[in-house]
Amino acid sequence: MITLGKVRQRAESDAKTHGYYLNPDPNFLGDLLEGLKRNEERYGYPSCPCRLASGKFEFDRDITCPCDYRDPDVEEYGACYCSLYVKKELYEGKTPILPVPERRPSEKQARAYRILAETPAEEPSGAAVVVAQELSEITLRLWYCKQCGYVCFREEPPYVCPICKAKREMFAELKIRTDA
Ligand code: SF4
Repeated sequence: MITLGKVRQRAESDAKTHGYYLNPDPNFLGDLLEGLKRNEERYGYPSCPCRLASGKFEFDRDITCPCDYRDPDVEEYGACYCSLYVKKELYEGKTPILPVPERRPSEKQARAYRILAETPAEEPSGAAVVVAQELSEITLRLWYCKQCGYVCFREEPPYVCPICKAKREMFAELKIRTDA
């Protein structure tokens, strides 16, 4: 079982690695960490505490903390969507922490709502049908980072390479020839 201490330690370590800070408000921070812990216990992965998760990792991969949108949001607004990760100026109170607009495409949000709405709690087997339908509608592709060679299999490349931090533009689709 994941502890709150472990969730905090992981966030602190990740913030340090990327030169970020955790939200300076201890109560607000505590709520976010608690949300991450709860989601990890519920789904098996720490989905974003400020967004609705579908409960299926394949659909929630982009909002598994730290999400795909964190780095571009911190760069543009000084904070991630939840304001868990912030820049130094915001941490020190020199710049206010303002709401960050949602960068996640609305169709991904809608998909999570659809999966949950169409899965009656009293009929869990219905979940498999809905998820299978949704999965059949997405196309997973192989992407590689032209800078460091990192490869991932997903709908679209990440905003930022998790290994070398290259931007999305540095990703190209990896086509596999099947005619050999
Ligand atoms: S918005 Fe912040 S807290 Fe939410 S998943 Fe992204 S990095 Fe984590």
